[in-house]
Amino acid sequence: MPESFSKQSPVLEAFIMSILKVARLGHPVLRKVTANLAQRELQSAAMQKFIDDMIETMKEYDGVGLAADQVHESKQLAVLEVANNPRYPNKPDVPLTVLVNPKVTPLSDVLEEDWEGCLSIPDLRGKVPRYTSVRVQAWDRNGQELDYVATGFHARVIQHEFDHLNGKLYVDRMRDLTTLSFLQEFARYWLPARDE
Ligand SMILES: [Zn+2]
Repeated sequence: MPESFSKQSPVLEAFIMSILKVARLGHPVLRKVTANLAQRELQSAAMQKFIDDMIETMKEYDGVGLAADQVHESKQLAVLEVANNPRYPNKPDVPLTVLVNPKVTPLSDVLEEDWEGCLSIPDLRGKVPRYTSVRVQAWDRNGQELDYVATGFHARVIQHEFDHLNGKLYVDRMRDLTTLSFLQEFARYWLPARDE
């Protein structure tokens, strides 16, 4: 658990949400394969609080997803949500989802390239090929089974987060680095052609 958690009193900790520190590219925690979560650990008050903090942190930084290892907890846990996101305008909404111990299986061989960013690689964007359709099997935050198909941008976000849990970052998936751009240059040189 984050340090701040243990310092809070039991009365306060149920009410105070925390913005967690995000690990950046180069931090070894981002390169480790994360550990499975057991039901008992998932159901604990501390883990449920941590999930709330992850959601709060994702929203604070306008992320569309966040993996636990991005906030220094090497566990098979990710959160995602797309809703009027200023970092990813004009993308279809994805409801708030908590994925625990996810398994992600491509449902076709079709790969589509689109722009991705990452809270752990600030200020950069790059074009990343992803499967257009995936099957997701996971637990939700209550340990209930999830089994569904995601397509398009939703599938992209899931593959990005699933990669995090396996120590991979989007730059590893790029075919080459020629599109890797700072946000200012992305807006100036690439954005008008976004929907080409
Ligand atoms: Zn990321």
